[in-house]
Amino acid sequence: MYLSKLFIPITKDLPAEAKIKSHQLMLRTGMIKQSSAGIYSWLPLGFKVMKKIEQIVREEQNAIGAQEMLMPTIQSSEIWKESGRYEDYGEEMLRIKDRQGREMLYGPTNEELITDVFRSSVKSYKSLPQILYHIQWKFRDEIRPRFGVMRCKEFFMKDAYSFDLSDEGAKKSYNKMFYSYLKTFRRMGLKAIPMAAETGPIGGDLSHEFIILAETGESKIYADKDIFKIDLNKYKFIDSSLQKMREDFTKIYAVTDEKYKEEEFNKNVKKENQMITKGIEVGHIFYFSDKYSKPMNCLIDDKDGKKTSVKMGSYGIGVSRLVGAIIEANYNNNVMKWPKTISPFDVVIMPSISKNNKENLEKAEKIYKELIKQNIDVLLDDVDENMSNKFKKHDLIGIPYQIIVGSKTVGDNFEFKELNSKSEILSLKKIIKKLKN
Ligand code: ATP
Ligand code: MG
Repeated sequence: MYLSKLFIPITKDLPAEAKIKSHQLMLRTGMIKQSSAGIYSWLPLGFKVMKKIEQIVREEQNAIGAQEMLMPTIQSSEIWKESGRYEDYGEEMLRIKDRQGREMLYGPTNEELITDVFRSSVKSYKSLPQILYHIQWKFRDEIRPRFGVMRCKEFFMKDAYSFDLSDEGAKKSYNKMFYSYLKTFRRMGLKAIPMAAETGPIGGDLSHEFIILAETGESKIYADKDIFKIDLNKYKFIDSSLQKMREDFTKIYAVTDEKYKEEEFNKNVKKENQMITKGIEVGHIFYFSDKYSKPMNCLIDDKDGKKTSVKMGSYGIGVSRLVGAIIEANYNNNVMKWPKTISPFDVVIMPSISKNNKENLEKAEKIYKELIKQNIDVLLDDVDENMSNKFKKHDLIGIPYQIIVGSKTVGDNFEFKELNSKSEILSLKKIIKKLKN
């Protein structure tokens, strides 16, 4: 892609409510455009990043045997009346009527809908366990939408639902998802900490929020630094190993202020290991047993032919929130550096261009063609402006690698730079090798 042709409407005057770095940066680099409070259009640059995040989430869900499907955004109120949540959900739910006067709603989440899908088709324990998921827009009429894409009214979420015959089985599904989440966030270059969360009337210990560290986060967190030392690679994808993994993680103290008790913290965590900071919730997993299956009559025949309510859990990831959260975690000293796996482009070529010298641009175009041939997603900055402005601009756009075509270019050797590091002079062959590793 040529930068001059890319639709990146830069916003210079930031609105007053853009208080945090990610919100400012996403507006400045034309990733999003607000449509109304808490509702955004995703422009090409932002959309590209979100799609990469979505794809990683998808791959890691598929890897644990979860199956992708797609449920609608608009739901009927009937199923919500069955579960008892139609009233309970309150004003966060956007309620609408169709032309026949039927009560509909824009789904804030999908427990009811998936239970309805499941109960009409699955009758026997032989079809269990199952994990189904979709990645779909949600609407919650948040009282105070803020922080750009972090707390929106309309947002993109992956939500998965597990179905098991027993609590024992459900725990195994939960562990798989726990593992999948850790891997998902790691692939995005994030250190996510699973934190024990409220389980409400269900009780038990099967509710975790996945939180990444960021000063601008809404959750206050208290944790033992040792949580970062656990090596995920030592666990195998078998039930016993996954159970051990969850135990290893949950042994280490890590809670949000909802669950924080000073005394407990001081008792469990050595002074030098105590971490009190803020974080952003990027995912939440929750086992709620028969909370929905029971009132909605989602029954399964067990081995003895006895009917029992299916045991369910739900597992969310804030896909659109992650775009902002990753910026919060990676933006430093006015430089944004995307993790390679989700960067909008793999590399940017920056030729030094002036009115009477098009030679660098021609060289850059040659490199561009070669990289495209090699399947490298490359941006060519063909805009006619001075190099110092170009550097400033790319510090914000955050593509992790740059090829600079200018005075240091000799023959087939070019200046290659990783953001935040020193540049080196390399042959195109070596550059390609580095980009592909
Ligand atoms: P929060 O406490 O932040 O309101 P929640 O408990 O309501 O989150 P869930 O219902 O568990 O969130 O949704 C799953 C994920 O969806 C969250 O972990 C978060 O990443 C994302 N999410 C929730 N609400 C929003 C929102 N208003 N805007 C963007 N992402 C959201
Ligand atoms: Mg909420």
